[in-house]
Amino acid sequence: MDRLQKVLAEAGVASRRKCEELITAGRVEVNDKVVTTLGVKVDPSQDFIKVDGKPIRRQSKVYVIFNKPKGVITSAQDPEGRKTVTEFFKNIKQRIYPIGRLDYDTEGLLLLTNDGEFAHLLTHPKHHVPRTYLATVKGVPHGSLLDKLKNGIELEDGMTAPAEVEYQDVRPENNEAVVKITIYEGRNRQVRRMFDAIHHPVIKLKRIQFGPLQLSGIPRGKFRHLTPQEVNELR
Ligand code: URA
Repeated sequence: MDRLQKVLAEAGVASRRKCEELITAGRVEVNDKVVTTLGVKVDPSQDFIKVDGKPIRRQSKVYVIFNKPKGVITSAQDPEGRKTVTEFFKNIKQRIYPIGRLDYDTEGLLLLTNDGEFAHLLTHPKHHVPRTYLATVKGVPHGSLLDKLKNGIELEDGMTAPAEVEYQDVRPENNEAVVKITIYEGRNRQVRRMFDAIHHPVIKLKRIQFGPLQLSGIPRGKFRHLTPQEVNELR
């Protein structure tokens, strides 16, 4: 649900300020009733909105898969002035936002949309979407430590759910290993905290899969739109 003037502005009717004037002037109808107060919230996908008797353009839904580079923040604005994901989507006229987060230093698969319901569904803890990461960690963790991560490990916000964990590459000469890990939750900095808990801190982290989606063919810093089939598979 969004404020009526915001929905009007995003549908390209006029600036938000001008849209407020249209509302108070009695030129806007929601579900065939004139609305003249400014606090009203509407759902652009459900409510039928007209200005001067003409339906507004419906905001089409957009779903993109993005290969986020490291050094980019997953929010629309950053008070510290760091580069944000929004800079990569200047050609998309709808205002899209990330589904969940990747840390500033994490790279890889990030979904963005303007479909609030879809975003809510996928980030809801009950939904258990598998997320797969390649974690390059300091040192080569013993198999018994990886078993701990598999079975669940105590973090300050509770035990982690069972995960899939396997070596991807072991590089004793560099004192590092690459571990492939699939988790079914999306807690804040979860993968980094899991490896901290076994004293093999993450040096580099990349998300390579989210549900059935993989990054294949999308270069770093680029995105593509999801197909309707892909969107349905995620629901
Ligand atoms: N886990 C992390 O620690 N960081 C991310 O960005 C994603 C998952």
